[in-house]
Amino acid sequence: MLRFMTTVELVATGSELLNGRTVNTHAQRLARALMPLGLRLSRETSVPDDRAAIADAVRGALGRAEVVVVTGGLGPTADDVTREALADLLHTKLTLDEPSLDHIRRRCEQYGQMLTDSRRRQALVLEGAAVLSNRIGAAPGERLELEGGRTLFLLPGPPREFEAVLADHVVPWLREHAAAAPIVEHVVMVCGPGESDVIERLSAAGFEPGPLDLAYCAAPGQLEVRLTGSADVGPALAERARRLREILGSDVYAEAREDLVAVVGRLLAERGATVAVAESCTGGWIMQRLTSVPGSSAWFRGGVVAYANDVKSRWLEVPETLLREHGAVSEPVARAMAAAVRARFAADYGLATTGVAGPTGGTPEHPVGWVWWALADGRDTVARSRRFAGDRELVRQWAAQSTVDLLRRRLQGVL
Ligand code: ATP
Ligand code: MG
Repeated sequence: MLRFMTTVELVATGSELLNGRTVNTHAQRLARALMPLGLRLSRETSVPDDRAAIADAVRGALGRAEVVVVTGGLGPTADDVTREALADLLHTKLTLDEPSLDHIRRRCEQYGQMLTDSRRRQALVLEGAAVLSNRIGAAPGERLELEGGRTLFLLPGPPREFEAVLADHVVPWLREHAAAAPIVEHVVMVCGPGESDVIERLSAAGFEPGPLDLAYCAAPGQLEVRLTGSADVGPALAERARRLREILGSDVYAEAREDLVAVVGRLLAERGATVAVAESCTGGWIMQRLTSVPGSSAWFRGGVVAYANDVKSRWLEVPETLLREHGAVSEPVARAMAAAVRARFAADYGLATTGVAGPTGGTPEHPVGWVWWALADGRDTVARSRRFAGDRELVRQWAAQSTVDLLRRRLQGVL
């Protein structure tokens, strides 16, 4: 792990975060705000609107992190108990902050509301806290310096208010006070092997990350392998990146955080080449992915979703004998579909996929998850098959990704 870096934890309060009603977006927003500062969120805890639970979580966070950000429960309602919980925990009192009360009073006048006791309560802050103005809502944020160089932030829960106080007060404070370790990273994008295959291959090749962090982020059919470290490990990073490339070879499709379809689009555009697609089990997913790339009209010709057998034979001239003898999910059919779609759409490359996405329709020969995919260009036709694990959606995503990857390999000259 990175050393000499200020640790930051989040405690998000709100029963709605734990009963499935609200997604905790504060963790993501805070983490995203920290990254450019060279900081990382080290832990995130969600607790219900309960004084004991909040106090307990904040006590734990303060035992580990130098900066603790607590969000939510600063509002006017009876379930907003964060201030009270923290006053209990820190053995301090709540005091009325006059400027905050003025702000609340002005808001009430502006919106024609009564300055009720519960609204007035939002001007209560922990004794000794610096008050952080909230330009969107009523309740201010707070910053409290504690013993042992710890800093506690209290931020309002409504996402727009949270973000405003974060941007106006927390980020500037961290920029000035936090010890950041500038982070360098190298990303390798892989298509083909799954996460555990990659882990296996790296360990079999004796790959050691050394002073770097090695992390993976898997999506169906593509995997991000990431090396990160503090700026002083630059030479080690370059050397490890080279090793990764060496070990993973042609399964690496990019060395930056990039989508497979974007890479394929760029390669096609560079060559002035075009592609057409015939899809069975993926039902149009490949075409959807390809056309999500801006500028795809320069290289995507079109395609067909040839689901039914007679559509395969009538639209793609897949011989009925092939379908009868080998079945729709078979190598000859995948090849015929790729060649036919290439010809019919006058494209340089034809891609095709046919498979059993499940959960029904499997046979002993072609069980659920079994997919054939093919690429045809003027030179030859290549087909591949694999049985993918997972449910229907996962099988379809892997099938789409693998089919596009076949074209990527041809374009990069590794197939
Ligand atoms: P209010 O004055 O609105 O009561 P508050 O500071 O007390 O503000 P909460 O009551 O905790 O904040 O939450 C207000 C709103 O913000 C709710 O709709 C809640 O679902 C949402 N919210 C709170 N915390 C989060 C979070 N971590 N992620 C996303 N939404 C959140
Ligand atoms: Mg509230």
